[in-house]
Amino acid sequence: MEDIRKELEKYGKLIIEKNLAAGPGGNISARSGDFVYLSPSGFALDEIKLNQWVKVNIKTGKQYGKLKPTCEISMHLGCYLTRPDIKAVIHTHPPFTLGLISAGIGLKPFYPDFVAILGREIPMVEYVIPAGEEIREAVVEKIKKYNVVLLKNHGAVSVGETLKEAFARAWLTEETAKMQVIGMMVGKIRYFTEKEIQGIENLQAEDYRKALLKSMK
Ligand SMILES: [Zn+2]
Repeated sequence: MEDIRKELEKYGKLIIEKNLAAGPGGNISARSGDFVYLSPSGFALDEIKLNQWVKVNIKTGKQYGKLKPTCEISMHLGCYLTRPDIKAVIHTHPPFTLGLISAGIGLKPFYPDFVAILGREIPMVEYVIPAGEEIREAVVEKIKKYNVVLLKNHGAVSVGETLKEAFARAWLTEETAKMQVIGMMVGKIRYFTEKEIQGIENLQAEDYRKALLKSMK
């Protein structure tokens, strides 16, 4: 169990390092058997100590320890209950992504890793009130089919079979938003055609994705 909290610590720091959240923004969790460890409420993700991750029993909802879990706990648990394959949930407030989507511009594939890591499309949901059932429903509905969801006027949620994978998706989403802004500033981006998307999907997509993930430290 301790291992997963060490990993949470590592990726919590990386989220801040890569500018995917600022101050006490964003929240992350990881699942280990019947338990989920969540970031505590009111902490910056890079200042959470090993014993401060809040343990919750996913079946009974019982919470351990004195600290309060993130206010988005319902959204996190909703993702795990909907997708048993998911072992990590990362919610960020990434600045380029947040700016773009709040202007109504979504992210679309225009390079291979987008398709391999993020999928052929990333759904975008309208603004809903954070920290409650509304956001849980909006996110869970999309997570059934996708691994990344964009939340207009709020941020992004990514999931994965490991923290590494969920983080790769969170990071690549923001890097994509940067590339897209640059492309839009200097000209018109040529987005992938359906055929090009299929080409990546057929490129032993799973192997390609795994190789990419493996190469990430
Ligand atoms: Zn948020």
